[in-house]
Amino acid sequence: MSTEKLPSRSENFAEWYNQLVVRAELADYAPVRGCMVVRPYGWALWENIQQALDRRFKATGHVNAAFPLFIPMSFLEKEKQHVEGFSPELAVVTIGGGEKLEEPLVVRPTSETIVGAMYSKWIKSYRDLPVLINQWGNVVRWEMRTKLFLRTLEFYWQEGHTAHATSQEAEEETLRMLDAYADFAVNDGAVPVVPGRKSNAEKFAGAVDSYTIEAMMGDTRALQSGTSHFLGQNFAKAFDIKFLDKQNELQYAWTTSWGLSTRFVGAIIMTHGDDKGLVLPPKLAPIQIVIVPIYRNDEEKSRVMPMVEWVQRELNPFRVHADTREELTPGFKYNDWELRGVPLRIEIGPKDVEKGTAAFARRDILGKAGKSFVPADQLAAQVAEMLQTIQASMYEKALAFRENNTHTPKNYAELKEIIQNGWALTWWCGSSDCENKIKEETKATTRCIPLDQPAGTGACIYCGSTSKEKVIFARSY
Ligand SMILES: [Zn+2]
Repeated sequence: MSTEKLPSRSENFAEWYNQLVVRAELADYAPVRGCMVVRPYGWALWENIQQALDRRFKATGHVNAAFPLFIPMSFLEKEKQHVEGFSPELAVVTIGGGEKLEEPLVVRPTSETIVGAMYSKWIKSYRDLPVLINQWGNVVRWEMRTKLFLRTLEFYWQEGHTAHATSQEAEEETLRMLDAYADFAVNDGAVPVVPGRKSNAEKFAGAVDSYTIEAMMGDTRALQSGTSHFLGQNFAKAFDIKFLDKQNELQYAWTTSWGLSTRFVGAIIMTHGDDKGLVLPPKLAPIQIVIVPIYRNDEEKSRVMPMVEWVQRELNPFRVHADTREELTPGFKYNDWELRGVPLRIEIGPKDVEKGTAAFARRDILGKAGKSFVPADQLAAQVAEMLQTIQASMYEKALAFRENNTHTPKNYAELKEIIQNGWALTWWCGSSDCENKIKEETKATTRCIPLDQPAGTGACIYCGSTSKEKVIFARSY
């Protein structure tokens, strides 16, 4: 615990983020370069994310399973683009039990290959389809430049892997899961996202089409927050996933994969946080309400504490914590819970006991504007309503920020200016030449081609040729 002030978010966003993650005890640096330790508070947040997603996966017919951490090197080599894409970041095991292995084992960077190998064994007939499996686990990608939650050597995620009888079904699945991610981000994370398709250069290694939800962080950079891939028959052909169709003819299956990781914790921090610390959305916050008792002496304490205990019981269905630490002042506790982003604080002092009221203090609106007093006999209902209000207003605020910082450039010079501090939504001809030149000259990449497109056509912002789609250019994490 530290009383030192955080670096200013507006002046030094990167340092604000790095210090906040550690000081709010979400995660810490591991002894191994580029690895993180997720601390209990951060893990509790991740568990709430997991539950919110898992609910959606089950509701759409998926089941969970677990595949091995090790993948034979030869599996990765079976899909050419896949191995090219992942080779530079593989961790490879060559010795096991003191002996050199006959075949090196890769620590999974993602599991399409090993899942594909198993699906080829399990899928024989159209009756076996679709297969809708998800796994919760960890993966390893040997990243050079790392940042807690956003890019670490090892991270936690879920990866869905599905197989279907037709291309159409697989494409529908890809978009269904993209929609599940968007619904989760918006409704549980209060993080506005733009669902869209990745350009060829930005898509997953081995995919036919990759889709993403892109979110704007508090410094206007983009964060890819979840992805869903239509893999066509690429992995089915590489791993021989074949089935007999209704006409008794042998067909390759169509597959998808989709993932969302602990990166999303970073999205929550960078979307909502402020100079005082985290601001967590009520639906995902490990602690939704903290009760801080206020008293100056034992006599006051003896009157205040029974009400604190009563309030805690009354709010039982919520994730509630009473901060009864003796040695700390209320002011210190306020700062501490503000740093940790607890959405609602309830202060209870001798006057509140007398009047039968409790004081609410919102985390998303600090100071007087976020304060209110509620009658104790309506507490649970008022808390429920307040948490909903906070959740909704966090989303509105983040959405307004994104809209205020998304612009349509009239020409290339304007695009260059916009991406210094925002997103540029613009016509693009689709050629990787234009995309690469813009990337070289501005460091902005195509984030996604939004699913929601305007009617008509326009001129490519770089080459001027007729373009059918608009794309978002932005600097990204
Ligand atoms: Zn162009």
